[in-house]
Amino acid sequence: MAAKGSFNAFEMARTQFDKIADVIQLDQAARDLLRSPMREYHFSIPVRMDDGTHKVFQGFRCQHNDARGPAKGGIRFHPQETIDTVRALSMWMTWKCAVADIPLGGGKGGVICDPHHLSMREQEAICRGWVRQLARDIGPTRDVPAPDVMTNAQHMLWMLDEFETIHGAKSPGLITGKPVGMGGSLGRAQATGYGVIYTLREALKELNLRAEQTTASVQGFGNVAQYAIQLYHQLGGRVVCVSSWDQEDQTSYAFLRKSGVDLQELLAITDRFGGIDKKKAAAKGYEVLPGDQWIDQDVEILMPCALENQISADNVGRIGPRVKIIAEGANGPTAPEADAVIHKRGIFVIPDFLANAGGVTCSYFEQVQSNMNYYWEMDEVLGKLDVKMTSAYLAVSELARKQKLYMRDSAYVVAINRVAQACRDRGWI
Ligand code: NAD
Repeated sequence: MAAKGSFNAFEMARTQFDKIADVIQLDQAARDLLRSPMREYHFSIPVRMDDGTHKVFQGFRCQHNDARGPAKGGIRFHPQETIDTVRALSMWMTWKCAVADIPLGGGKGGVICDPHHLSMREQEAICRGWVRQLARDIGPTRDVPAPDVMTNAQHMLWMLDEFETIHGAKSPGLITGKPVGMGGSLGRAQATGYGVIYTLREALKELNLRAEQTTASVQGFGNVAQYAIQLYHQLGGRVVCVSSWDQEDQTSYAFLRKSGVDLQELLAITDRFGGIDKKKAAAKGYEVLPGDQWIDQDVEILMPCALENQISADNVGRIGPRVKIIAEGANGPTAPEADAVIHKRGIFVIPDFLANAGGVTCSYFEQVQSNMNYYWEMDEVLGKLDVKMTSAYLAVSELARKQKLYMRDSAYVVAINRVAQACRDRGWI
């Protein structure tokens, strides 16, 4: 979740944690340990710019908790990056890895910079400089970075190359998000969207619904949404509405076709940022509506797969009477006030850090493959992903049923209990 301006993501992450710590009556030592990152690094990255001047960039890495395994989490390049955003994101990574039950902890990193105004050479220098500052504190058995906002596979390769140069050995398990063929895993593109649907499939079973009898409306048409729609259609469901951001008009549009959207047809008129061409969509018979109307549709399932803070106090009342499930593909799509209304209405929520954990689970698979230097076929990756996501879902839903918890709270209880227990087992607290 992005945290800019006065909103402080770390305060929010701590508030969420405190609420669950009260629910499970967590002891004081565990609270003190888990409320803050165990380690954080602040450092300067001097870079010689293309015009011959030197500029110093500020870099961060937080390792929130590594009781369950090496820290894991992305590196963001953003002009408004703050240490509090990185702290919050590292804490959320701890919970996400724990709820997915993968043997990794939570980390996050960043650099205050804007890649739009940096040449490739300057970006490479930042990547290499970031690793030079942290070469002793990250690694396959310590802390495993990955791409995030405005960083990509090329950045990861430069970082890996610098790390291997410093240590004088190949170490592909240092970092994930590498290109396939250079240490990346097959299935990473599919992983998050498919993971959303593996959990949705289990929720449908639990609610005695058949996918074939359901329709869905999806916000977003990027990586997560596209693969979620693909698998949901394979299960027999029908997506009737998708939405996307229109770069030209600087607004979003929703595309409605009550008989069901055609994924291939839409993909053919979508740019690489997940923006659907509205004129071409209209020509193909889609009704083009204001973007926020994805939420008004008369469907059983809503899948917010675009951005944070999209279901708010302002629009939560517009959710249709037939909606039974919200599967949160995006991070933080539901604002806390809206969440309270959804809870009260009895809509079944598959919370973000469970629903979209397929991405980090596949990154874990990438790390395992890189450490072995042996790479799996697509079927093996997706089969293992399904097993992990299904068991993660079942652990959360079983606890929710037994203790009559809201699914979001149940996911937090599972995650925090697992991490606290690992800290106790190690004798830390
Ligand atoms: P993406 O950039 O591929 O796609 C984003 C989509 O959202 C695009 O179709 C864009 O047009 C659309 N969009 C942007 N603003 C919109 C608006 N106001 N209304 C409607 N649509 C809008 O991003 P992604 O990788 O699919 O990620 C989507 C969400 O899922 C983010 O919250 C991300 O943090 C989260 N997530 C992604 C992954 C992953 O592996 N890709 C993993 C975990 C969580």
